[in-house]
Amino acid sequence: MSKISILPESLTNKIAAGEVIERPASIVRELLDNSIDAGGKNISVDILYGGKKLIRVSDDGSGMDRDDAVLCLERHSTSKIKSEDDLFNIKTLGFRGEALSSVASISKVALVTSTSGSNTGTKIEIGAGQKKDITDAPPSPGTVIEIRDIFYNTPARRKFLKSNPTELSHIIGAVTQKALAYPEISFLLKNNNNELINVSAAADIKERFIQLYTEEMFNEFFEVKQQGNHIQIYGFSSSVAFTRSNRSYQFIFMNRRSVRNPTVSHAVYSAYGDLIPKGRNPAYFLFLDIDPLKVDVNVHPAKREVRFENPDDIHRFVAHAVREGLRPKKEKGAVYSATAGSSVYKDIKRVAGRPGDWSVREMLESAVKSAGTGQADFFDGSALPRINNYIHIGDAFALEVTRDGLTIIDRHAAHERVLYERLLKKTSLEIKNLILPIRVELPAKEFNIIMSYKDIFHDFGLDIEDFGSNNVIVRAMPEEFNKADMNGLLLDIASSILEQETTGSRDETGKQNLLKNIAASLACHKSVRGSEPLNDEELTLLISDLESTEMPDMCPHGRPTRIALSLDDLRKMFKRK
Ligand code: ADP
Ligand code: MG
Repeated sequence: MSKISILPESLTNKIAAGEVIERPASIVRELLDNSIDAGGKNISVDILYGGKKLIRVSDDGSGMDRDDAVLCLERHSTSKIKSEDDLFNIKTLGFRGEALSSVASISKVALVTSTSGSNTGTKIEIGAGQKKDITDAPPSPGTVIEIRDIFYNTPARRKFLKSNPTELSHIIGAVTQKALAYPEISFLLKNNNNELINVSAAADIKERFIQLYTEEMFNEFFEVKQQGNHIQIYGFSSSVAFTRSNRSYQFIFMNRRSVRNPTVSHAVYSAYGDLIPKGRNPAYFLFLDIDPLKVDVNVHPAKREVRFENPDDIHRFVAHAVREGLRPKKEKGAVYSATAGSSVYKDIKRVAGRPGDWSVREMLESAVKSAGTGQADFFDGSALPRINNYIHIGDAFALEVTRDGLTIIDRHAAHERVLYERLLKKTSLEIKNLILPIRVELPAKEFNIIMSYKDIFHDFGLDIEDFGSNNVIVRAMPEEFNKADMNGLLLDIASSILEQETTGSRDETGKQNLLKNIAASLACHKSVRGSEPLNDEELTLLISDLESTEMPDMCPHGRPTRIALSLDDLRKMFKRK
């Protein structure tokens, strides 16, 4: 008996859907692509319950006549390519003809569409039985497509969906991406009838950037602009002072398609080189336009990856363009000061990362060298007899000399550890009500995340309220955060929550990890910025606070807080033993 059978179409569609549709945001992305390809100028997206209940995308594009409307839901139905030649010269966002059929196979669909000249429009509904129901509709030009109950017939996949706020964040991300790539189109996004994104047609990417984010944030970026053969790049990359703790805010658009591409991102990092600390990430919005013949866009079912014909050329081109953008700043001196700070970081990281590779002496040398300014103080000898006093090395380290040796303390890391444990234990935190509450305007995605976790922040002593239009008001916070950059802090924390929520489990361990992550980000943020000098008394307090933590030798991210050299170590270093 034969073992092989051809799978029924209902099943092959579901298999295809698995590749294209991971979550509600994937559907939003595909529907937006279609509306953009159809020439829509005003596109709106309505969401209920993070897209799990409903996704509705309306556009004022070309619409479809009845025949096309019936066909568009079939597998491999497309108006965008006809021949193999077309496949290697793609100028539209879609071309595989499987988005709508995939969506229809795992959800309930209602499509209303009409072309501009026609007398009647068409409505097509596909319910639970997957049967198409076709009726007349009013002839209003454009298309409205409603997707309900995603994965209703594939419960195993439904299980993988995350909480509504997390799914909504991915949707906000998808709309943000399209809005960045198409500034000339107006986008409206609503969740449960709340407006989250509302951007009218903009003149250029800069204007769109400011609509989506803030002018304040835009000012942290420099322009990248370069013309090559068959390729050009345009966009913005962050100044070395505006780095992020993760890779959110890294956008690459290739022929206006948002893609992930290791060649391009590696080129960007290589342009920054040592200018930003290890472990921090630049933010960038880069638009590459490249001859469609020189790039293959058909390498990923959801079209999120591309393959370049000459990746080495692309790498060189992008790295050069970003480096050029960075350069003018250097002359103003801004980059230099940040460089000094960053080398300190790098050395800490090296000391921390591979202790086995380093002799004690190298560690000491490195710590002293990287700190820069404190060298004279350290070596002129007069400093050494000071017992139980601190010598400040640069703005990162303090050196404590005792009769039995010496300890180098990374003030930032030490402070981070202390604050982290206080936040988690909710002890010794002094909460301050702010006389002047701080207002922070956030991008829609981060706003959504911060507001949905406001109870957790409250537990950590941060009182955050919704102030409308993606603004939050911070009314109270732990005394320690007095001088923190609230904007940067909330942005970073939102990204780390989203990352954790997306990759982590939803059980108790997942929850605990999330709490720890938030505490670590909070602690880090306060401490990254806090490079104001401490006097001896404050340092003594910090060190005794550090002593009383559970893990005094390590900051929450695993870097050392202090390195001690005993007399014995010194004897060994000087070959007296
Ligand atoms: P693809 O976009 O890869 O062609 P889809 O399954 O997404 O495949 O869509 C199939 C076809 O349906 C498209 O090629 C297009 O002709 C038509 N279509 C889909 N959405 C719209 C829309 N919003 N407006 C007009 N036509 C549309
Ligand atoms: Mg499509």
